[in-house]
Amino acid sequence: MSLEKWGWSPRWQAALDRLREGLEPGARGVLAGRVLRQDRGWLRVATATGERLSRISGRLTHGAADALALPVVGDWVALLPAATAREATVVAVLPRQSALVRRAAGSDAPQVIAANAGVVFLVHGLDQPLSVRRLERALAVVRSSGAEAVVVLNKLDLGDAPRASAEVRTVAAEVRVLAVSAALEQGLDALSAALPPGRTGVLLGPSGAGKSTLVNRLLGEQRLATGAVRERDRKGRHTTTRRELVRLPSGAWLIDGPGIRELGLLEGNLAETFPEIEALAVACRFRDCAHASEPGCAVRDAVASGALDAARFESFQTLTRELGGAPLDAARGGRTRGR
Ligand code: GDP
Ligand code: ZN
Repeated sequence: MSLEKWGWSPRWQAALDRLREGLEPGARGVLAGRVLRQDRGWLRVATATGERLSRISGRLTHGAADALALPVVGDWVALLPAATAREATVVAVLPRQSALVRRAAGSDAPQVIAANAGVVFLVHGLDQPLSVRRLERALAVVRSSGAEAVVVLNKLDLGDAPRASAEVRTVAAEVRVLAVSAALEQGLDALSAALPPGRTGVLLGPSGAGKSTLVNRLLGEQRLATGAVRERDRKGRHTTTRRELVRLPSGAWLIDGPGIRELGLLEGNLAETFPEIEALAVACRFRDCAHASEPGCAVRDAVASGALDAARFESFQTLTRELGGAPLDAARGGRTRGR
């Protein structure tokens, strides 16, 4: 099995050669590999001799100046094979071409969610109003990652794509904008063209925008064989695979999985996205009110009276569940989302 299948190139070989020179003689037998999956504590790494389950070396874990230096899905790494053929230890991360960093508001430390992606698709569903402000922030994050941003206006069957496209251009005149319908399979050739063979893509966007449907389209017949999608079929139940690099039939790669999809907001900050709910929640009887069945819930009262749009409350609840934490925790300085 060749590493080219995962994107190995002379450029990465040169990086590995440079790294080897700096290693102790005993460690120069390192292999190259690409991180395909991140489960808790373990990495699944593709090497020229097959996949290896890998730990991160203690030196790398403790020597890293911050968490941003630790290997994540998409990374090219140097590993030392273990005595057993299927295992290894990651000793170094090759310098990244891009790093998508999630800078959550509140107390969460910045986190690399995907490495070496060439293109990040910011997916918006045209059945929802376009938040230009949020798009602007997302574009800024992608730009600072080193990847190219492409805005995907999905569900063109349900909305005014030319108008949304013009709105996008008011904040980013030069960005590529694609109008597609994942459901009706329209515009998908342009989407595939934006992710040519040899490149790695990531899809980001709010829940319901159509990311999973787009991933299925890109995967085509392969979808049943893919962990990232299998995971989704177990409604609501999370298996351990949070992020995964998958090879598309086209020869491109996609970094996907619930750990990517649920970060669709990038900043992951509900308070910023739902300021009116934050304002209402201050009047809930309980400080940690989940707006479910608690007595004295000002948010549900507002839905009942029509002061708060029920659909908006519903999307707030969906996102709260997906982010797996207490509502508005960052805004209230409450407990942080554990993961
Ligand atoms: P995700 O949360 O971003 O992964 O979104 P999903 O892929 O689960 O899609 C959310 C809903 O939108 C599903 O019911 C899809 O069937 C629907 N959907 C996705 N793409 C389209 C589209 O192009 N047109 C229409 N009408 N519905 C779509
Ligand atoms: Zn409440």
